[in-house]
Amino acid sequence: MTSMDRNVGTHDRPQFWRVAQRCCLIAASVDIAFFAIFLVLDSPILAWVNVISVAMYGFAHFAYGRRLNWLAGWLVWTEVLLHAALGIILIGWDSGFHYYLLMFIPALAVTMTVQLAVIALILLWLYYVGLYAIALYYPPIQPITEPALIGVNLFNLTIVFSMFSYLGFFYVRTVSSAHRKLNRLASTDALTLLHNRRHLTELAETEITRAERYHKPLTLLLIDIDHFKLINDIFGHVKGDEVLQHLAQLIRLELRQHDLIGRWGGEEFLVVLPETDINTGEQVAERIRVAISRYDWSQNLKKDLAVTLSVGLSQLGENETLTRLINRADKALYASKSAGRNRVTAL
Ligand code: GH3
Ligand code: MG
Ligand code: MG
Repeated sequence: MTSMDRNVGTHDRPQFWRVAQRCCLIAASVDIAFFAIFLVLDSPILAWVNVISVAMYGFAHFAYGRRLNWLAGWLVWTEVLLHAALGIILIGWDSGFHYYLLMFIPALAVTMTVQLAVIALILLWLYYVGLYAIALYYPPIQPITEPALIGVNLFNLTIVFSMFSYLGFFYVRTVSSAHRKLNRLASTDALTLLHNRRHLTELAETEITRAERYHKPLTLLLIDIDHFKLINDIFGHVKGDEVLQHLAQLIRLELRQHDLIGRWGGEEFLVVLPETDINTGEQVAERIRVAISRYDWSQNLKKDLAVTLSVGLSQLGENETLTRLINRADKALYASKSAGRNRVTAL
């Protein structure tokens, strides 16, 4: 198992254990019902077995609550294995108590390493077949009437059916939420929480395609913090990080909902302005530049800082690729830097 597998496993398990704990409550309720059912059906041994079962599920529930997962697991295993065997030996295979053994198949896959799960599954299969063989060769010790047997079978079938459905939905929910989380992690810059370079590239490509198809203008801003190295040198890397985080939010505030912004490099941001020509883009860039240069950093950082930005702009030309468009914005940015920084240049 790789370290990543292990991480994913330990991350998923708390939810699984919570479900296992909930299943103990359901199982205990089912066994309380069985206690009454078997008393009525005049099968006292099975009735009292259910009292022991309820106690075991109670302990297992308590153990899960204390994170004693292995103790809880063993209690549940012992209960289900013995209960299934007793049910089949006492009232027969048609009681359907063996269905409960099937519940272990997904549980084993989630809680064990592949090797251990395979061994456990083989043992489970042998146990299942063993019980079937016993039922084939020996008549039930405490048979109940045919209608009662059908009733017990249907009851067991319904419980197992419901539990499998619950586990199925739980599994789908867990997988989709993990999937969403992975997607978010893969597309977000960890420091600024803006789109990362890879994701912004994808989004920008889509916007370019749209702009070309509908003959709409599109403008791109490449923003670079001036003398950021100096900010790090004077105030330290940690403060430098805080400036980056805060600046990302400040720039975001100056944009429209459907404008795109991402962290392009260390202290560089790329902004995509759909349906915006270079003149409007220049106004937006100027607004951002002024907002940052006037911002009072002493409020947030308790430091007297002067942060300025240089911006390069380019408007999408006919049949222009994203790479070429960015190259032009980069040249414009370089011109802003050469001309003394804290300015906007369009190319
Ligand atoms: P210029 O005005 O020419 O852009 O000067 P500059 O100092 O901003 O540019 P330079 O490329 O020389 O240095 C960029 C600095 O940005 C150097 C690097 O340490 C810093 N930097 C890049 N990424 C991060 C980051 O994630 N956190 C912090 N604190 N600093 C970063
Ligand atoms: Mg730079
Ligand atoms: Mg810089």
